[in-house]
Amino acid sequence: MTSDSTATSSPVLDYLHKLHQTHAGVLEGEVATYIPELAKADPNWFGICLVTADGQVYEVGDSQREFTIQSISKPFIYGMALEDNTRSEVLAKIGMEPTGDAFNAISLESGTGRPRNPMINAGAIAAAGLIAGKSMSGRLQRILETFSLFAGRDLKIDESVYASESTTGHRNRAIGHMLRNFDILDGDPTPVVDLYFKQCSISVTCRDLGIMAATLANHGVNPVTGKRAIRGEYVESVLSVMASCGMYDYAGEWIYRVGMPAKSGVAGGIMAVLPGQLGIGIFSPPLDPRGNSVRGIKVCDDLSRHFNLHLFNSPHVNKAVVRLQYNGSEVNSSRVRSEKQMGELRRSGKVIRVYQLQGDLFFSTAEVVVREVMSDLEHKKFVILDLKRTLEVNESACSLFHQLLMKLAALDIVLIFTHTSHAPMLRRYMKLKLGESAIGLYHAFDDNDLALEWCEDRLFLKLLPEYGGENLLPPEKYELFQGLTLEEISVLKGLMRLQKYGVGSVVVNAGDAARELFIIARGRVSVTVTLASGLQKRLATFSSGMAFGEMAMLDNAPRSAIVVADTEVECQLLTIEAFENLEKDHPRIKIVLLRNLAHSLSSKLRKANREVSIFDY
Ligand code: GLN
Repeated sequence: MTSDSTATSSPVLDYLHKLHQTHAGVLEGEVATYIPELAKADPNWFGICLVTADGQVYEVGDSQREFTIQSISKPFIYGMALEDNTRSEVLAKIGMEPTGDAFNAISLESGTGRPRNPMINAGAIAAAGLIAGKSMSGRLQRILETFSLFAGRDLKIDESVYASESTTGHRNRAIGHMLRNFDILDGDPTPVVDLYFKQCSISVTCRDLGIMAATLANHGVNPVTGKRAIRGEYVESVLSVMASCGMYDYAGEWIYRVGMPAKSGVAGGIMAVLPGQLGIGIFSPPLDPRGNSVRGIKVCDDLSRHFNLHLFNSPHVNKAVVRLQYNGSEVNSSRVRSEKQMGELRRSGKVIRVYQLQGDLFFSTAEVVVREVMSDLEHKKFVILDLKRTLEVNESACSLFHQLLMKLAALDIVLIFTHTSHAPMLRRYMKLKLGESAIGLYHAFDDNDLALEWCEDRLFLKLLPEYGGENLLPPEKYELFQGLTLEEISVLKGLMRLQKYGVGSVVVNAGDAARELFIIARGRVSVTVTLASGLQKRLATFSSGMAFGEMAMLDNAPRSAIVVADTEVECQLLTIEAFENLEKDHPRIKIVLLRNLAHSLSSKLRKANREVSIFDY
């Protein structure tokens, strides 16, 4: 490594390089020789790979050199056996208790003949017998395909290691026959032992092992390819047997010191998993007397200590799950309201409360949310849980939210969720628990703006019905004309032109030259801008009696946003020219209009200011 490359390399990679350097000099251990082909390994081969649960790969040394997976295949085969059979079928044939015995011990549980766990050879051969498939080649195919999903590349068998193990594997054949004797395997055990030899001979690199481990850390989804390799519900079983039995007769000390579920193989590989966080793959052929890679153990030990990776030293749950909260008098939807309605929202908007949540929602974090909501219910009518910044919402969070919904409903408070695309499980869960009859209690909106608008509308339904509706609103009711006499209004009537727009038509386009001011006589329009992300964001929705396009009256700049008709719309258009000309013959009209324009702009600015103070951009 040159000093140039360290200047720009990741500190994590620098650490792995250092670790590699430190342990490359360790010369203890013996390369396995009982499978003759393995004896050809160079004791100096040494690779380390760390992969985060979101798919960042850090690798140093011989991280891309191929070797056979050997016993590291066992946890994956166990996971497949769980997928292909019922759990009780699997448990009837393979236990889950660690043994103090070596990996190849010829011992089975007395009485039942069950191998004690799936990480010793006996249990692994029994698990191979549980892989689904019509023929042995079909089963092997399924194994190779699944392992390839875990690794994110096409894995193959190292034929010479397979041949070598097959000609010398009498001990494993003896285990196979013992399993047959106790009916753990049915039929001829030879093909199953052969399948086991083949699974052990799959060729991997320690980069592959790192990614396979990270896939287990990531609930079964390969974080590099995004593809699922094993159903999430079986990952905990696989990791459990790795934690208790993965390192054979060293398993107790391993979990005590290193604290990560792991599995070793006699070709010198070790794979370790820190659930939710990362996976580690190490390759170094010299083994200790228990069959675990000497350098592999040292590296894991150091890594765990240095980065605090011990499972039982887990980081604190993020209690800052409620990032921000505000109410409906502080932040309003972008539906522009009449002055009266605005006043009403200032006064009674507190009945709407928004909780902006962040991070993962599971029992401990959802509990904080539910606790906060329940502690502040006085005068509440609407509670909005904003999921935009959440990552995963698991089943226990869904369950707490369902309970919350029921409690609030009983108090006549509506619970609303926004950005529910972040919680794909939530709708299904609510549907299941609430049933057809009560699914109406579950409210979800794409964003907070729509949810706020809905709450405000419900609030106004009782308090302040909107004017306009289906009929053309007479000019005396236009906000912009407040303070004008009837004669003055009739002067303006003579200057304006009525224009109709169909639903969805573009009233004003961004970039257009601005020629007129619009006053809505009937219907509703929305103003939207295109965000940097390409998404459309609604800035405002105007309804009858309101004016838009007024900024151009003041600064003559081109249109800055798109205005689209949400309904059939009729607008009165007043050209900038006509407005300017008022100065000569009707200066008072112009003054009143300018004052009203200033008034409407200042209320928009106040809304923006309030939001800035809440959101702290
Ligand atoms: N194929 C090897 C065997 O059965 C696997 C053993 C191991 O990696 N610990 O002997």
